[in-house]
Amino acid sequence: NEGYQRKPEWLKIKLNTNKSYKSLKKMMRENRLHTVCEEAKCPNIHECWASRKTATFMILGNICTRGCRFCAVQTGRPTELDWQEPERVAASVETMGLRHVVVTAVARDDLQDGGAAVFAETIRAIRRRVPNCTVEVLPSDMKGDYESLKTLMDAKPDIFNHNIETVRRLTKRVRARATYDRSLELLKRVKDMSPELPTKSSMMLGLGETKEEVLEAMDDLLAHKVDILTLGQYLQPTKKHLNVERYVHPDEFDEFKKIALEKGFRHCESGPMVRSSYHADEQVNETARR
Ligand code: SF4
Ligand code: SF4
Repeated sequence: NEGYQRKPEWLKIKLNTNKSYKSLKKMMRENRLHTVCEEAKCPNIHECWASRKTATFMILGNICTRGCRFCAVQTGRPTELDWQEPERVAASVETMGLRHVVVTAVARDDLQDGGAAVFAETIRAIRRRVPNCTVEVLPSDMKGDYESLKTLMDAKPDIFNHNIETVRRLTKRVRARATYDRSLELLKRVKDMSPELPTKSSMMLGLGETKEEVLEAMDDLLAHKVDILTLGQYLQPTKKHLNVERYVHPDEFDEFKKIALEKGFRHCESGPMVRSSYHADEQVNETARR
């Protein structure tokens, strides 16, 4: 199994498990909250939670109606809607003293609005409690329902993030029920609704894509007015998930960043450990400044 080949040096990290991290984990459990930081065993958790004061909350439960082949989130029939969740998220944002929060969600294809109303309420609850905290949203494609998108947009997030995850050719293998074009269209609609709102998208590398395909995806994103790009290494969460085809060298990530900026992205994070929400705090400032 290629995916279990030895990891290169640049990916060897030690997860931080100090005391404040443990108490935050405890708080998450007590409040029945889920973070991508924990679920995806993100290597940046200490840097993000402790120093950068940022975290990624996953709302609408932790069971997804889709089963993307790269993702560790459990697939199945989701639990019912929890209207108290927005307030609990906001309270945790306050307790953690976060300056930037990313709100993402499982895909709730079982709900008519895909969960947009709870999403919007979560943004509003955070605004009420922690007005200085910037809020980035990372929703699913909402089944391409632009009414739902509007519900979310009415709550006025600071950054709109939606990931294409991979290049066009590999989308069908990698993502469940999502299409490359529908994701691009969603990003474009956001810009149409709110031209000033920075939009952002992310791709995982190492799934078998070629360099040309990555550059083509960059062009497609730019044609749909996306401002920020993040590129990171795909890591296989369990044996059942897609294999890692290749560990991309840090120099190649640097080269992609250079190309992305030359092509016209306003900001690009590119590196083996980069995740969709990595250094997101900087991106708000940077895109707002220009
Ligand atoms: Fe959480 Fe994103 Fe930071 Fe990882 S990079 S710890 S998922 S906020
Ligand atoms: Fe994971 Fe999102 Fe795919 Fe659900 S839709 S399986 S949460 S990547």
